[in-house]
Amino acid sequence: MISFGFSFSKNSVYLEMNKIKQQILEFTLDELKTALAQKGEKNFRAHQIFIWLHKKNAQSFDEMSNISKSLRDKLNQEFDISVLEISTVMKSQMDTTSKYLFKLQDGQHIESVYMKQEDGRVTLCVSTMVGCPIGCPYCATGLMGFRRNLTTAEIVNQLTYINSLEEQPVTNIVFMGMGEPFLNYDNVIKAAQMFNSPSGAEISARKITLSTCGIVPGIHRFTREDHKFKLAVSLNGTNDEQRNIMIPVNRKYSLKMLMQSLQKYTERSGQRVTFEYILVKNFNDSNEDAMRLKTLLGSIPCKLNIIPYNENNHCAFLAPDEDTLNKFIKKLYKAPFAVTVRRSKGQDIAAACGQLYAETKIAT
Ligand code: SF4
Repeated sequence: MISFGFSFSKNSVYLEMNKIKQQILEFTLDELKTALAQKGEKNFRAHQIFIWLHKKNAQSFDEMSNISKSLRDKLNQEFDISVLEISTVMKSQMDTTSKYLFKLQDGQHIESVYMKQEDGRVTLCVSTMVGCPIGCPYCATGLMGFRRNLTTAEIVNQLTYINSLEEQPVTNIVFMGMGEPFLNYDNVIKAAQMFNSPSGAEISARKITLSTCGIVPGIHRFTREDHKFKLAVSLNGTNDEQRNIMIPVNRKYSLKMLMQSLQKYTERSGQRVTFEYILVKNFNDSNEDAMRLKTLLGSIPCKLNIIPYNENNHCAFLAPDEDTLNKFIKKLYKAPFAVTVRRSKGQDIAAACGQLYAETKIAT
C-alpha cells in the first residue's frame, strides 16, 4: 500500500491485511489537510478535495476539475474514493422508497434505504455493520449474525454515492439500517460529524438520528460527549420479560438501567428521546402494555413512535390489525408525551423496518 505517511489506525489493520488503498472518505478535513501537507500541498487543496467528496459527491478523482492532473493522478494511486459498488437498486411500487444493495470491497453486502417523505424531507437510512450481533428475532438483519463493523468511509459513502445518483439530495439521516450504531461507536460518530460538516453535506445535527436498541454504555458516552445529534431508542416491550425476547441484549442492560441512562441523557442534553415501539399482535399490544407505557415514559421528555410490525419470511411474529392498533392508540390518549404511528415505507421491496437482509438479494 502506498501511503502519505499519515497514519490513522482504526481501520489500518484491515486495510493492510487486504492490501488495498486507503479510503479517502475516512479523513476528516483536518486529517486531509495534514496528509496533503506532508506531500507539500496547501490547506486550500485539502478543502477543495473535501468539498468535492462530501458536498459535490464525487465518485472519481477525475471529476475534480479544479485539481491539477498530477495531483489527481497521485490521489488515484494512493486512495480509493468510492468503496461501494452498487449490486441492485429496488424501487418500491407502493411509495417513493428505493433500496440500494451495495457490495463492499471484501465482497460483503449492505443495504441503504432512500425515502422521499410527503413533507419534502428526503431521509436516508444507513447501515453501520454487516449483519448485527444483537439478534433481535423480529429483525432480518439480526438473523445474519455479525460479520463486521463498517468503516467510517463505508458509512459516509452510502450518502455520497446515493446523493450522486438521486435528483433530490438527502436532507435527513437515520442510523437505523443494518447494525447497532453504539457497538460501532467511533466510526458512527465520525461519520455523523462528516454528514454535519459545513464543508460537507451540511446536514443539521438535529436532522441526524442515531438509533440504539439500548446499549447503555453507549448512551452514557453519548451523554458525556454532549453530541447534538438526535437519539432514538427501540423499546418494543413494556417490561423485561418482553424486551428479553424482542431485544436479547436487554438481559445485560435491563429496562431499569436503560431508563436511568435516558433520564440522565435528557437532563444533561435538554433534548427529548424518541422511543420506537414495534407493535406485535398478541405480544405487546394489550391494554396493560399501553398503561405500562404511560407509566414508564411519563417522567421522561420523549415522543413515542408506534410502528406496526412488518411481517417477513424470517420471523413468526404477526402484524397487528387496524382495530388492535386503533384501540392501542386510544389507550394512550392523554399520555404526557406525543404519540405517532409510523408506517414503514418500502414494504414491497423488504426495505421496511426490520426487513433488511442483504443476502436475500444476493441469492436471487
Ligand atoms: S433490530 Fe437493530 S439491533 Fe436488533 S438485530 Fe436488527 S439491526 Fe441489530
